[in-house]
Amino acid sequence: MSRFCTALLLAGSALGLAAFSTAAKAEGCTNPDALGTSRTIAVDSNELPRIGTMQYRQSLPLEDHEVVITFDDGPLPPYTNRVLDALAAECVKVTYFLVGTMARANPDMVRRIYNAGHVVGTHSHRHPLRMNQMAQARVAGEIGDGIAAVKAALGDERALAPFFRVPGLSRSRQIETYAESQSLSVWSADEVADDWHRGITAEQIVQRAMARIEAKGHRGVLLLHDIHPATARAVPMLLKRLKANGYRIVQAVPVGDRPASVPERGQADVAATEKPGWPRVVSTVISP
Ligand SMILES: [Zn+2]
Repeated sequence: MSRFCTALLLAGSALGLAAFSTAAKAEGCTNPDALGTSRTIAVDSNELPRIGTMQYRQSLPLEDHEVVITFDDGPLPPYTNRVLDALAAECVKVTYFLVGTMARANPDMVRRIYNAGHVVGTHSHRHPLRMNQMAQARVAGEIGDGIAAVKAALGDERALAPFFRVPGLSRSRQIETYAESQSLSVWSADEVADDWHRGITAEQIVQRAMARIEAKGHRGVLLLHDIHPATARAVPMLLKRLKANGYRIVQAVPVGDRPASVPERGQADVAATEKPGWPRVVSTVISP
């Protein structure tokens, strides 16, 4: 048995994860040929504080040909919208790790993501690329400010999942310890598709995603970025390729109740939104 499979068994058996099937595939889905979402896995951050074999021993307890899709760094129009459209067309539910400044600049998109049935976690406030070198107080500030900004954008703090991914996956024991103290699970990934590389094509993203999922035992938590044009072009192709190869989509959700939807923003909310020219936060070639 591979180390990866052993880790999955450990994650599934010892950590008390609640996995259950849902009818997510049917809910609101009008495309009979859609890839769909076959089930959800409910993740208790206190029982599974670190996720993803790229950096940790454990990942989600996925079965053969099951894939969890995650998106980092957004939201950013128009690419986030295109990705959302592609996911909706295939009735696929995923997990987002949003950047605080991006959420603050695009609160309507944050609510669109949530109300489409996706899970929303956080990815720091300003996307620092060397978070592993930060002092504890700055780590706490980045994580806490990111959470506050995304909660404010959602308009309902119960809607935010206690899921955190470190910018650039630049993990440190200090970050992990702090996250654990806040009952946050730290998400790495099982596979990336290099979609932040300059000049990469949509077809290359699809090929790398498929090859790496296959190499990890035909399963895994895939990390993509919904802020890149190539990713937006790749997602429809990737979903078709996954379906053609017999894969099923699993959505990772937080344990416990969360609101079915958050309210649309009203005129007063829109008028109060600050637009001070937030920088576009994009991962560089050195990091996801
Ligand atoms: Zn990132």
